[in-house]
Amino acid sequence: MRIALLAGDGIGPEITAEAVKILKVVVGSDIEFDEGLIGGAAWKVTGHPLPEETLNLCRKSDAILFGAVGDPECDNLERALRPEQAILGLRKALDLFANLRPAKLFPELEAESPLRTDIASGTDLVIVRELTGDVYFGTPRGQRKDDQGRREGFDTMRYNEDEVKRIARIGFETARARSGHLCSIDKSNVLETSQLWRTVVLEIAAEYPDVDLSHMYVDNAAMQLVRAPDQFDVIVTGNLFGDILSDLASACVGSIGLLPSASLNSEGKGLYEPIHGSAPDIAGQGKANPLATILSGAMMLRYTLKREEDAVRIEKAVATALAKGARTQDLGGKLSTSEMGNAVLAAL
Ligand code: NAD
Repeated sequence: MRIALLAGDGIGPEITAEAVKILKVVVGSDIEFDEGLIGGAAWKVTGHPLPEETLNLCRKSDAILFGAVGDPECDNLERALRPEQAILGLRKALDLFANLRPAKLFPELEAESPLRTDIASGTDLVIVRELTGDVYFGTPRGQRKDDQGRREGFDTMRYNEDEVKRIARIGFETARARSGHLCSIDKSNVLETSQLWRTVVLEIAAEYPDVDLSHMYVDNAAMQLVRAPDQFDVIVTGNLFGDILSDLASACVGSIGLLPSASLNSEGKGLYEPIHGSAPDIAGQGKANPLATILSGAMMLRYTLKREEDAVRIEKAVATALAKGARTQDLGGKLSTSEMGNAVLAAL
């Protein structure tokens, strides 16, 4: 297994080093890492945040382990050269259309949730968000003057049936591998795009008779996620609704330093990264929590490398480390980034 290791900026190198440490112990000599430059770090050396060499490395690797990008020194660069553009470029080049964001509340961290403990307890869900279509990419879009001379902005919400089919299948497969419950979220009472979405999801459901499918309107889903998040197992939804709901679900389970993600294409190749950014305020100080990146490594084993048992070993080791009291500063503790990695190693 050849993994492209893109540490990136800020805390990226510190957190990815811990994930690599864990993956090497769990998988052994079957896994090799090839480092590539990305983000501000790449711009400083090559003049571009996503150099061709890095893109080629990603194309020939089995999966990508990604730290974070974003560097205050690059804030004034033109848009195309900003570090954050590197992720968009990678998504596009590799057609990473499915974004998986688990939101699991570890029992030891229930107090970290902004929700009341009795409500937050038991939250363990995955949001499958379509990543390359919807109103963010639909055309026509723009700003213009209307016939009365007033400025107006407009965007186009659009999905074709193939785009819905492929993300629906990822939703059903994800649900099948968990408890078999899938909730499709749309706004089909108002939007044509959502009506097509619901029709196509229902058609694909015939391929998955073992998965129990339900539907929910997005406004109700937002309410249900804070009223009773434990009712959800796997959610599948479009780009716009998924963007908002996945941040909402993340907040329900506490620290940003704990949440992994995966972005997959139709061959199962994936980019695995923590949901947080490069945290320039704590970069280089050994304060970053590496657990989101370590858990992203577990997702890589599960979804691309098909090593479910190894994925579960890592997830259990993280839970054990937390249960034994291992805490970085964001969780109210004193451990450094590498000490937290070592706590997971000890649990392994
Ligand atoms: P951020 O996620 O980097 O940081 C937000 C806050 O959370 C900060 O106080 C930070 O110290 C803290 N934090 C983040 N990760 C942490 C961790 N692992 N352990 C402990 N604390 C952690 O968001 P921001 O400050 O808005 O953005 C910083 C830079 O990151 C920007 O340039 C932004 O564009 C970029 N960014 C990149 C990604 C990505 O690479 N996928 C995602 C979001 C933001």
